[in-house]
Amino acid sequence: MQLSVGMNQFDTARVFCIGRNYAEHAKEMGAPKPAEPVVFMKPATSLVPEGEPLVLPRGRGSVHHEMELVIALDREGRDIAVADALRYMAGVTLGIDLTLRDLQSRLKQAGQPWELAKSFDGSAAIGRFTSWPAEFDFQNLEMRCTVNGILRQQGNTRDMLFPVAEIISFLSRHWRLLPGDLIYTGTPAGVGPLVPGDTIMLEATGLGPFGWACV
Ligand code: ZN
Repeated sequence: MQLSVGMNQFDTARVFCIGRNYAEHAKEMGAPKPAEPVVFMKPATSLVPEGEPLVLPRGRGSVHHEMELVIALDREGRDIAVADALRYMAGVTLGIDLTLRDLQSRLKQAGQPWELAKSFDGSAAIGRFTSWPAEFDFQNLEMRCTVNGILRQQGNTRDMLFPVAEIISFLSRHWRLLPGDLIYTGTPAGVGPLVPGDTIMLEATGLGPFGWACV
């Protein structure tokens, strides 16, 4: 999928996602605080740009919204030092890591991978990217998620257990990072179900609002 960040266009092939990156969300899921980032992936074919309908899977249990700060990379790199990591970023936006929660619980209990619950078609809503000026402090961003105008999630990126620079550095020790890679950086507390007919909106300081109609 082609994404634009400012004047630049990128082909995105990979979407990395970080789980349990906010202590309050790990708590609401009954999960312990991780010692290192919990990583899973979604295919780029699961991305749903702002304004397109969010098609919820039917007959597979509850579908939860997870509002997340999403970053795009524009440089290739391996074994990136934390101190250098932010130089690999092209832009930021907000997105939704849609999750089949009942199915995820069953997979967790069975000790199985999460792909069926996390990586289905349409599982990654993505807002418009803003190229990030150096003064943009995305480790102190207030984020809000409303469904049908009612506040569901509110959080601040300063509460991330692993900040963005640490996430980039960690991922680069396991993969050669590439221009166009996206990283969903985890969700604050307040996740909940979506049903057809809902409208979900995301907003943060300097980002959005971005909206999707659920069908
Ligand atoms: Zn998530």
